[in-house]
Amino acid sequence: MIKAKFRCVTRERKTSFVEIFRTTPTNTVCPNFYVLSHANGCTFQPHCEYCYLKSTFWHQNEQVAFSNVDKMVRDVRRWIAKDNLESYILNTGNLSDSLAFEGVRPMAPALVEEFRVAERLGKKHTLLLLTKGGVLHCKCLFKIEPCANVVMSFSVNTPEAAAEYERGAAKPDDRMEAARRLKAQGWRMRIRLDPMILGFDYSELLRQVRELAPERVTLGGLRAEKNLAKFVREGLFEGLVPDTDGKGMARYPRTERVALYRQAVEALRDICPIGLCEETRDIWEELGLKPDDKPCNCGS
Ligand code: SF4
Repeated sequence: MIKAKFRCVTRERKTSFVEIFRTTPTNTVCPNFYVLSHANGCTFQPHCEYCYLKSTFWHQNEQVAFSNVDKMVRDVRRWIAKDNLESYILNTGNLSDSLAFEGVRPMAPALVEEFRVAERLGKKHTLLLLTKGGVLHCKCLFKIEPCANVVMSFSVNTPEAAAEYERGAAKPDDRMEAARRLKAQGWRMRIRLDPMILGFDYSELLRQVRELAPERVTLGGLRAEKNLAKFVREGLFEGLVPDTDGKGMARYPRTERVALYRQAVEALRDICPIGLCEETRDIWEELGLKPDDKPCNCGS
């Protein structure tokens, strides 16, 4: 297994902060969305065992937070001014954790203020803050009023799975506590249960998610693109099988994936809309979910 050294730096981003992200492969039920490229890498160390960052240049060298927040805010303001967009979601957690760099380079409060303007103007543009952070990482949000055009989303897992594979992130109890407090304060809340890993018991976590009653839940099964295996501890990807055309991601076999999702779908069906991350329409339908609605974390 290849190991990396970590160094966290800040530098200016020269190119645009806001870009469209079109999901692939196209046969999966995923909405397109806009991405805010606020950093390359993640300060949660060690990186989560399965994280795609491990097969990138940034993981091998340094974790970079882009420091020119003024330009970031200007780019976001320009995006909010546009209408007829193909998505109205600006996802800050697709290329990195949304809040992992807050201690090094704060950006969340300034972004929330921009989306307050969108809210006042009755616009659909929405900021998505997706994190594996806990109470400490969300400190900046406890101090400000919630905004209807900002969605908080926590990626959670069982304590056992996190202790094994997400050691650098906040503990799941801490993430759920932060989610409970922010929701009680009035913030919009979504949950990602991703990646679900075979061999772990999700029942207690599902009970807690039920109690939290988020507006949406996204389920994802463990998956891996081809280059990742050499950076990952032996064993984690053992049960995955390659995609049929060899181009997509390796996943658990279909029956095992459906069984994994089914427990969560049954536990949460009456609580909120549920989506599946990077899954095909037939799997949604087999579970009685609504692919045409695309009720995903990254969707409007
Ligand atoms: S928190 Fe997200 S971005 Fe950071 S290491 Fe884990 S999976 Fe990767």
